[in-house]
Amino acid sequence: MAIISCPQCQKSISDKHTACPHCNITLGDMDANAKQRLASRTKMQQHQSLMNQSFIALLLFLGGFLVLYWQHPTPGSWQQTACYTAIGVGVVWYLVNRVRLVFLKRKN
Ligand SMILES: [Zn+2]
Repeated sequence: MAIISCPQCQKSISDKHTACPHCNITLGDMDANAKQRLASRTKMQQHQSLMNQSFIALLLFLGGFLVLYWQHPTPGSWQQTACYTAIGVGVVWYLVNRVRLVFLKRKN
């Protein structure tokens, strides 16, 4: 018995399983080629999803920054708080996504 990673959800499973206990994908009638294709497609989708999230985070950061720069919200107003929140969330989300992308690349 060997431990392999599920081609769809990437979780560790036994190679004796005919279906993944985590995501229920049927593995029994899949050859090595089909598993490889599914694994690389899943990785592509994860990569694309992280890229989209990075883009949204960047827009959030830029939006907060530009409103702060052009509108000059009154100090202490909710608009100013919203701008700082958008900038903070955007930066943190963007950095988290970059780290996740590095780990996704390193994993395979
Ligand atoms: Zn699975």
